Amino acid sequence: MAKQPQVEEGEVRAAEAAGRTGPGRDPGPRDLVRTGTTVDEMVRSLADQIVTGRLPPGIRLDEAGLAARFEVSRTPVREALGQLGAMKLVDRRPNRGAVVAVLSQDRLAAMFEGMAELEGICARFAAERMNAAERRALEEAHQASAKFVHDGAEEAYETHNTAFHSALYAGSHNEHIGEMATLTRDRLAPFRRAQFRLAGRLLKSWAEHDAIVAAIMRGDGAAAEAAAKGHVDTVGEASAVFASGQD
Ligand SMILES: [Zn+2]
Repeated sequence: MAKQPQVEEGEVRAAEAAGRTGPGRDPGPRDLVRTGTTVDEMVRSLADQIVTGRLPPGIRLDEAGLAARFEVSRTPVREALGQLGAMKLVDRRPNRGAVVAVLSQDRLAAMFEGMAELEGICARFAAERMNAAERRALEEAHQASAKFVHDGAEEAYETHNTAFHSALYAGSHNEHIGEMATLTRDRLAPFRRAQFRLAGRLLKSWAEHDAIVAAIMRGDGAAAEAAAKGHVDTVGEASAVFASGQD
């Protein structure tokens, strides 16, 4: 992922001067914007809305409108649209500007199939190759994440989940496969985020992680691979609920 530049201070100050930020502002439900809104936050907010269908396929994303809504200049808006374009969530066309892309079910299924294979390979290699310290760290982080499930802390669990899978990629001790897994994961991130909002998904995800960790701890590559592939398959099925594009 490219670096995530902060919105320049001058822009924030201009917004403050215009009375559009600060504690007195009416906080709406979509109000993810505050002083110091980053391109990353814009990408995340827009990606979530695209994936959940609140921004439907084909709808135009107007730069000036987005700049006003996020209270930033057009430069970070263009940067965010560029990242969404790289994620295939937005089509950028010369005369129409940026529109929400139609992502076909077939394409989404292909991406999840590829992800499942990559997760499986990484988990198998991790079971075979992780050193003692890596195994211990994985186990500890996994056990600590039970608290997020118990508390229903979706954001915290999501952060843990990303770190958990990154540990598997690193634990594969194959940098190339790890990079492919990371790239695919980044592209699928909004779809995977959406599925954590399904009822009961957090507990199910944790139980699936538990099977992966148990297999890795006993060095069982085949079991780790099967558990990791199954974990992604479930994510894919859950995410299909949110896919907005149709063939
Ligand atoms: Zn997971």
